[in-house]
Formats: sequence, structure tokens, C-alpha cells
Amino acid sequence: MPRYEYRCRSCGTTFELNRPMAESAAPAACPEGHDDTVKLLSTVAVGGSAAAPVPSGGGGGCCGGGCCG
Ligand SMILES: [Zn+2]
Repeated sequence: MPRYEYRCRSCGTTFELNRPMAESAAPAACPEGHDDTVKLLSTVAVGGSAAAPVPSGGGGGCCGGGCCG
């Protein structure tokens, strides 16, 4: 389950919530009970390597159109 970070505009505290992605935009009350909160940039810690594989290369592209000869 992704983790989202929120900031309370009433008391200024920041807190994290683990909630489904479908509820990421739902209102989140801060630990102090205020509901005037905003969602910060999601710090999703899914795990695994940080570098995603790049889907490139491996044929196709130019040589398919006849421009390579
Ligand atoms: Zn608060």
C-alpha cells in the first residue's frame, strides 16, 4: 500500500498515511484532529532498485523504414 505525506495547515505538522491509491485524494485529518491538510509529493517506497529499465533499443526504429540502406 503506498504511503502519502500530508501537511496540516492548521498546526503545521507533517504526517504520513498508508492508504489505498484510490483514497490518496481523500481528506486526511492530522494527528491533532485538524482536517485542513494538503497532500505533499508522494514519497512512494515501493522497494527494489531505483533505476527502472529503459525500454529502448533492440531493433525496429530506423532500419525498419529503409533509411539505413
Ligand atoms: Zn493539525
